[in-house]
Amino acid sequence: MSTAIDFEAVREEIAYAFDRTVFFREHMEANALRPEDIRSAEDFLRIPPTSKSHYRRNFPAGVLARGYTLNSPHVMRFQSSGTSGDRLNSAILAYDLTRRQATALAVHPGFDELWRPGNRPRICRFAPPNCSDVECATGFSSMDDRTLPDGTLVLTVAHDLLATPEWQVVKAFDEIEAYEPDLLVVDPTHLAFLTRWGRRLGREITSKRKLHVVCGYTLMTGVARRQLDATLGPNVPIGDMIGMSELGYLGFECHHGNRHINDRDFYVEFVDDGEHVPEGRMGELYVTTLDDGLVPRIRYATGDYFTPVGEPCGCGSDLPVVRIEGRATHMIRLADGRIVTPGAVAALVGDAPWLDLYKLAQDATGACTFRYLADEPAAAEIRDLEDRLTEVLAPNPLRCEAVDYIACERSGKFQSCVSQISAEVAR
Ligand SMILES: [Zn+2]
Repeated sequence: MSTAIDFEAVREEIAYAFDRTVFFREHMEANALRPEDIRSAEDFLRIPPTSKSHYRRNFPAGVLARGYTLNSPHVMRFQSSGTSGDRLNSAILAYDLTRRQATALAVHPGFDELWRPGNRPRICRFAPPNCSDVECATGFSSMDDRTLPDGTLVLTVAHDLLATPEWQVVKAFDEIEAYEPDLLVVDPTHLAFLTRWGRRLGREITSKRKLHVVCGYTLMTGVARRQLDATLGPNVPIGDMIGMSELGYLGFECHHGNRHINDRDFYVEFVDDGEHVPEGRMGELYVTTLDDGLVPRIRYATGDYFTPVGEPCGCGSDLPVVRIEGRATHMIRLADGRIVTPGAVAALVGDAPWLDLYKLAQDATGACTFRYLADEPAAAEIRDLEDRLTEVLAPNPLRCEAVDYIACERSGKFQSCVSQISAEVAR
């Protein structure tokens, strides 16, 4: 739970959202609450969480604060085109996005020089096509077609990552070189895929400018991270972002490799079963915006789980350290009631130098399959990993399979850990 923030700032946000937005006033009234009922962090628990579906249903008229329209100055609109009915329309004030990004990135000195006053970094994005604002991020479009209004170049990638043909991979290398980015914003699995092709083709990811890498979109595995580190070398700062398209930066990885949550621009809670979790236990991240004039959000349930670590980090940042556990819809649910999170699976697999890519999938019966692409024959290593996975996933059965292709999700994201059982619980 946020400690840095005076609860008074939260009360102001509640009062503002109640006064200025139709949705939140109705949300409070439906629960017989008024802003003056919420005086403390304990009272705050009385407000039922708000969710993506609330904001989807009520956008724009019900969630935009009175006095704003989508055409007001500094309003950035965006849309993500979901494949499974999760299309999200939202809007954000440009300066709120900047403020949250600056707070988060400040935990990593390697990113200090990126946003110096007057310096507008050249950004190149290599990520699941679904997350891009460019509807036509197909291989046949030109660089101009894929350059966003803010100058970001969106690289093309096949909807099913591993099915990306060689010519499209070559195009990505060519365009990075031609564009000379300061910053690559990537999905780590996607960039690791590109680095493997780079080895095969004798191509490097290079820029005439000093390159920085921000990872996001999906959980970064140790396996992907090892490949990025090995290819890009120690002079390219790499940071893992905690973020959501509708809110911007919720946190960032510091140069010590820990994830810090942005509890300065947001009031954050980690919740399980309606209660705040103690340190060391995992909970769902709820965020409350602070001073968000456009779309104030109160107790916005993110669907992402974290464990607040409760210990300071040697990097010196006072933003709290969290361990990323993953999305509720991806948790492996075992027959004995235990839950194994995607973050726990990634920690167990480690950086596994013999592995290129893996996916642990739980089917509707509860059985698990670990599919992997190996970089080299490693019989002893896979047996060892199989033993450790079997132990953690017991009593559920596990099968390991070496394969040469693993499909992405329908969304175009590659998830390293999925569960049909959890996906159905969410439905
Ligand atoms: Zn740190």
